[in-house]
Amino acid sequence: MDLSEQKVCVIGAGIGGLTAALALRQLGARVCVLEQAEAIKEVGAGLQVSPNGLAVLRGLGLASHLEARSVKAQAVELRDYAAGRLVAHLDLGLIKAGTPYHFVHRADLIDLLAQAVRAAGIKILLLQNVETVHPGRDSERARVVMSNGSEMRADLVIGGDGLHSRLRGVLNGTVAPFFTRQVAWRAIVPNTMRHGNLVQVHMGPHRHLVSYPLRGGTMVNLVAVQEQAGWAEEGWHHTDDPQNLRRVFNDFGGDARALLGEVTEVSRWGLFRHPVAPVWHQGNCAILGDAAHPTLPFMAQGASMAMEDAWVLRDALERAGTLSEGLAAYQTRREERVKRVVDAASKNAWKYHLANPVVRSAAHMGMRLATTFAPKKLVGQFDWIYSHDVTKP
Ligand SMILES: Cc1cc2nc3c(=O)[nH]c(=O)nc-3n(C[C@H](O)[C@H](O)[C@H](O)COP(=O)(O)OP(=O)(O)OC[C@H]3O[C@@H](n4cnc5c(N)ncnc54)[C@H](O)[C@@H]3O)c2cc1C
Repeated sequence: MDLSEQKVCVIGAGIGGLTAALALRQLGARVCVLEQAEAIKEVGAGLQVSPNGLAVLRGLGLASHLEARSVKAQAVELRDYAAGRLVAHLDLGLIKAGTPYHFVHRADLIDLLAQAVRAAGIKILLLQNVETVHPGRDSERARVVMSNGSEMRADLVIGGDGLHSRLRGVLNGTVAPFFTRQVAWRAIVPNTMRHGNLVQVHMGPHRHLVSYPLRGGTMVNLVAVQEQAGWAEEGWHHTDDPQNLRRVFNDFGGDARALLGEVTEVSRWGLFRHPVAPVWHQGNCAILGDAAHPTLPFMAQGASMAMEDAWVLRDALERAGTLSEGLAAYQTRREERVKRVVDAASKNAWKYHLANPVVRSAAHMGMRLATTFAPKKLVGQFDWIYSHDVTKP
């Protein structure tokens, strides 16, 4: 369908929202982005862009921009927590997709997308906190209502408004997420210990710590996960005392200890499982990214899935005769894949948290043998995620 001169309103200048804005602009739509924050600023920490996410950036002409601002990952190393002993080394060069895996600061990915969006003539309107959306019926425009009472009308509204999406609520009602009894801390520290261009996973009983370099290797991103019965809040803005983090991980040795010793600022979030939204579109409105399918961080696919959604949305609309056909095709083409990824992420954490020493050493032995005798098989178990290229017909 022809989107030229159609007014498209994207809610949220996050990774999915900005990618969608750019993709739909390329179809000729007049796009604007509504963002609740007062500025597009340094928020968040490290993200991973796997080959399937990079494919979307390549399709949009932005792959070299990402490469200039990210670190290319070479391997994943699994280490035992106590002394940091190496359990397994997985060479990411064995990924079937062949293209590299990148570590990037969230702020840098947002910045490069926002620059491309503005260069395409799209306005990002800040301090626009969307309260609700009324999808249009038949040929009616959708109505976007801001918390200050102002309104905007559009031919198509895309909800890229993340974890606590307003549009998801309008389309699906509210479903309480389920607390996984895990909390995560994230921090960025200076790379004083020469962390290589790889992901290290330090595995301890009921806890694990992930580290990887950012910004030309000058910094290291840390994500520390602990199983805990007590309640924790979900969200990206809850700070914590670094001493709490160090206390929980005080028996971790090797590089883990050195990295934790550098932490001066840390945020903490509760890990919740949300069902994938059953309804992604209604009338002239649709949701994507975390608004449709928030995921646990254990497959590091949040950003890449949001970018894949944006590309498929554009492609489905381009091929469809009508808006409703296009939006329906978008959900159909995405739903099964994102459910599989969300499910894989939900199943992944326990592998790092084995508490029983006998079970843990048997599992570690199994991993060591697998990396020695079947490295391709081990690395290739997630090829179905990484080799998928939504930009190819
Ligand atoms: C502040 C912040 C920090 C993050 N830090 C990390 C991190 O360190 N590591 C990590 O792996 N993931 C992080 N994430 C999540 C990660 O960006 C997403 O999981 C993933 O990129 C999917 O992107 P998305 O576009 O669906 O959602 P997001 O990237 O979460 O973007 C949603 C956007 O919508 C805006 N928004 C929300 N509600 C409204 C509203 N009512 N009106 C207008 N705008 C609205 C938000 O301000 C945000 O800009 C962070 C997200 C945010 C918002």
